[in-house]
Amino acid sequence: MALLIKKFGGTSVGDVKKIQAIARSICQSKEAGNDIVVVVSAMGNTTNELNHLAESISKNPNSRELDMLLSTGEQVTIALLSMSLNEFGIPAISMTGSQVGITTESIHGKARILDIKTERIKNYIDQGYVVVVAGFQGTTLSHTGSMEITTLGRGGSDTSAVALSTAMGAETCEIYTDVPGVLTTDPRIVPNAKLLNEISCEEMLELASVGASVLHPRAVEIARNYGIKLYVKSSQIESSGTLLHSQIKPLPLKRGSLELTKTVNSLEVLENQAVFSISRLPDRPGIAAQIFETLSEVKINVDLIIQATHDGNNNDITFTVNESDLKKTIEQCELITSQLGGEYNCKTKMTKLSIQGAGIMGRPSVSADLFDTLSQANINVRLIATSEIKVSCVIEINNIPKAIRVVEEKFKLSDTQIFVNPVYKRQDQPEVRGIALDKNQVQVSFRNLPDKPGVAASICLALAENNLIFDTIVQSERITSRKTKDISFTMNKQDRQKADAIFDSLTKKLPGSFIEDGPAIAKVSAVGTGMAFKVGTAGKIFRALAKKNINIEMIATSEIRTSCIVLEKDCDEAVNAIHNHFELEK
Ligand code: ASP
Ligand code: MG
Repeated sequence: MALLIKKFGGTSVGDVKKIQAIARSICQSKEAGNDIVVVVSAMGNTTNELNHLAESISKNPNSRELDMLLSTGEQVTIALLSMSLNEFGIPAISMTGSQVGITTESIHGKARILDIKTERIKNYIDQGYVVVVAGFQGTTLSHTGSMEITTLGRGGSDTSAVALSTAMGAETCEIYTDVPGVLTTDPRIVPNAKLLNEISCEEMLELASVGASVLHPRAVEIARNYGIKLYVKSSQIESSGTLLHSQIKPLPLKRGSLELTKTVNSLEVLENQAVFSISRLPDRPGIAAQIFETLSEVKINVDLIIQATHDGNNNDITFTVNESDLKKTIEQCELITSQLGGEYNCKTKMTKLSIQGAGIMGRPSVSADLFDTLSQANINVRLIATSEIKVSCVIEINNIPKAIRVVEEKFKLSDTQIFVNPVYKRQDQPEVRGIALDKNQVQVSFRNLPDKPGVAASICLALAENNLIFDTIVQSERITSRKTKDISFTMNKQDRQKADAIFDSLTKKLPGSFIEDGPAIAKVSAVGTGMAFKVGTAGKIFRALAKKNINIEMIATSEIRTSCIVLEKDCDEAVNAIHNHFELEK
């Protein structure tokens, strides 16, 4: 007999008819001989409505009282679904988070799950019951030792379901929702976006704007950490949906820390890297494509790619390759500069250091902490590139022992979380699986910054302290006689307006530097595990854009993601161009 954990979202339990339809399908599954635990959300728009009620009474409601209110939504659904199952002749029992024993951190509104007791659920299952559990909620002990209700944050029922699967030792978890599964991209932009049969948890997290609309990222992180096979399916139509699988070796479940409360999960070090910078390149569509095609012609696998600064009509592009490709890369750079102009330089004995973790998403303080930690150890950061769940930087090889030591200490990592020259499995994966789009952003550049440790850290810290979310930080290596560097990043349009005072005080502290605002932009990110292993993916992405005459304002990559910042007016066309180029509709 299989143990099935099924979660139904708000729209799937939006009214009585829908609840009855779900009860009917659970009946069939039960009669087929399965043990079933169901996790449900609040009906339809309930959580929003409860929030509005609170707002109409208080601008700033007490967080304990808000959790007390919001947690009632799910309690309605569990009771109704149990009643409905009973009507169909199936023994069923509903349980709140506290009745199950879901314990969380003592933070209202966004608590992480620490532990889930399974005795009571198992007992009922043994007696033949379907157990219906309220998602989104748990309990914690307050500082006075009394029990309090907590909620996990909007969309948190997905997290409840996957956490429950982990605690129950179930192999799979099925999330039923109002979409057929995870698509290659947003179908409002690309009408023939295709349903994915499978995707890795890492890809799902990197595809933030596509993924987060389907699943709570914390649910994806739990599935990834504990190797739960996660199915996302439509509750309305019969379809196999999308299977999310994990690329990492499952962690052992430790009681009391089911959801890792740390933001950083691992530190990766990649040695023997050479950094190439080609500067003073013409700034027009097709240049990046030509460069990376020229490199892929002789099978050079490029890792990080960074492009940010526009110096008048000039562009700099920086990339890293393994030192084993040094000679070939030099030859190709000679060729490129003879055709396009510009000049290149190369630095060997470099190392890439990356921190990774789903907790990095939306928390700019993590990259600030990394840069600060390195600068305190007097380590100069040569290159920076960030993605949703990863921050990478390139430093000199002789700094590595020290860097590992300070980063390990700062993020409290154990030896098992540190990987030097890791070898990845599953090299057969597609080079582009999906495309995410983030609009409503602007590009900001700090120019003429002194090239010394601590500069990136001071900028990132100032922004993070003021709760301004920035993203895609890119520091490029340009060859100037002034020995200065530029750092560019993207941020929300709204946040940019709030940042003036902070930028002013920063440029005053960094003599000679100034701010340059770019136009309205959007970030188009192609994500695929296979791109880390296949030669030439970046060239193909840039070519797809060049063919449509789209200029790339910035480039930042991580192993499985290539992000191009383009003008906002070009973004839909850019997504379509990449989607078509890789034939994702097939
Ligand atoms: N009811 C909660 C919300 O709307 C939790 C969930 O549906 O996942 O955010
Ligand atoms: Mg949801």
